[in-house]
Amino acid sequence: MLSHYDVLVAGCGCAGFCAAVEAARCGKRVILIEKNDMPGGILTVGGNNDIAQFFSEGVQLIAGIGWEFCRRLEAVGGAVIPDMQAKDKPHPYYGVHVNIPLAAATMDEMLLDAGVEINYGQVLCAAQTAETPTGKRISSVLVTSKNGLREIRASVYIDCTGDGDLSVFAGANYECGEETDGTTALQPGTVRYYPSVRACDDATAARAGEALRRAMNDGILSPADMNAPDLRAVLSARGCNFNHISDTYSDDCDSRTAADIAGRQCVKRIIGVLRDAGVTDVIETVAPETALRETRRIVCDTKITAEDYVSARTYPDGVCHSYYLIDLHLSGKWSIRQQKLEKGKKPSIPLSAMTVSGIDNLLVAGRCAWGDRLANSAYRVKASCMAMGQACGAAAALASETTGNHCGNTRSIDIARLRALLAQHGCIVPPTAEDAPSEDTVKVSEFHQ
Ligand SMILES: Cc1cc2nc3c(=O)[nH]c(=O)nc-3n(C[C@H](O)[C@H](O)[C@H](O)COP(=O)(O)OP(=O)(O)OC[C@H]3O[C@@H](n4cnc5c(N)ncnc54)[C@H](O)[C@@H]3O)c2cc1C
Repeated sequence: MLSHYDVLVAGCGCAGFCAAVEAARCGKRVILIEKNDMPGGILTVGGNNDIAQFFSEGVQLIAGIGWEFCRRLEAVGGAVIPDMQAKDKPHPYYGVHVNIPLAAATMDEMLLDAGVEINYGQVLCAAQTAETPTGKRISSVLVTSKNGLREIRASVYIDCTGDGDLSVFAGANYECGEETDGTTALQPGTVRYYPSVRACDDATAARAGEALRRAMNDGILSPADMNAPDLRAVLSARGCNFNHISDTYSDDCDSRTAADIAGRQCVKRIIGVLRDAGVTDVIETVAPETALRETRRIVCDTKITAEDYVSARTYPDGVCHSYYLIDLHLSGKWSIRQQKLEKGKKPSIPLSAMTVSGIDNLLVAGRCAWGDRLANSAYRVKASCMAMGQACGAAAALASETTGNHCGNTRSIDIARLRALLAQHGCIVPPTAEDAPSEDTVKVSEFHQ
């Protein structure tokens, strides 16, 4: 166990996994801190095992470690990669569906092969900072585990906690749920439960459906508990996305605890309705966490607005693409506001949306990178998080090579060199503002339910 690392990655969801593998493949000493005992975050522990979206209209926009992971999983029967050339399918069709245990095991293998020092079951709980001429830098972090408290130092830190914990401990500013189109409540979370296919024969499914429909009419189940009173639909939609657990403000532990309890109460209500209808043993397992769509967005040097996103704005420091529709789930009911991207629009993410404002040696990748709520509702999807993670892993590797006053400074790296490194490592690097000036501005539609 070293006392000083080149790069520390906090959190091992889709973003942290790719960040750690990339930095280690760049030859750096990398330590990964993950609070759960399994890698993957929302993809595995959160039970939402669909990865959207690597392709747009048959053209690949995101490759690199995220895509390599999908192909490795596919080779062991752990991923279903759809025909990406198929035209005009509904957007969920283009997601890569993965097997959760195989996905977690493959992440373990890729992290170990790259030489990452993995620390599962460890929570990052504090950061020490020191002043610099340009702001401040993180000098060390504290991690708590069954071994007690441990202080760890690194040249560069990457916050991939999804909630931006490390950034907040280091004193970064953040946004969390400002008013958007008349709604201030954060998007609801979803708790994944796993109905058994075996128990779902035609007669059982019909009886369950009837009982669930009646329970919704009678108010025993709310519309947010189930978007369709049909177990077959739950199964065919891969079971990921069927309830809305509302009023989650998970920039604090009390709210996260409440979301977990509310999630299990929702599943308990559904099991109760089924049991009363004589349908037992259909739901035996639930994900350990209510998966949260929206928490903190950390203030960085550039804010991606929804207009930037749907217009596919180009940036001088663009490092990866992102591709998804604007997708704002509404609190308290089953409802989503969406805006599809116009044909040919290929949004990109600049490094400066991931360089944390006022902190020299801190990057943030994944769903807590900086944008407004609507842009965030699109770039939070997993393939985009993977691309951001890899870009930050490479950026951190380069920043860790700078010496003297600039040691670890993420703003001192040469963007052309970073983009070349990413391309060399199999990533698809977006055109810069110089290569391809942004096209016409697309308006963000006023959403109507
Ligand atoms: C219900 C739901 C459905 C979704 N559907 C889809 C979909 O179909 N397709 C799609 O592509 N995307 C979907 N998304 C979005 C996507 O899954 C997430 O935005 C994305 O996985 C976020 O990845 P991440 O790496 O940024 O964060 P996370 O996956 O949240 O990973 C963060 C990691 O950091 C760890 N961590 C947190 N705090 C600490 C700490 N203090 N110390 C140590 N570790 C810490 C966590 O345990 C976790 O492992 C969905 C999201 C939800 C919630």
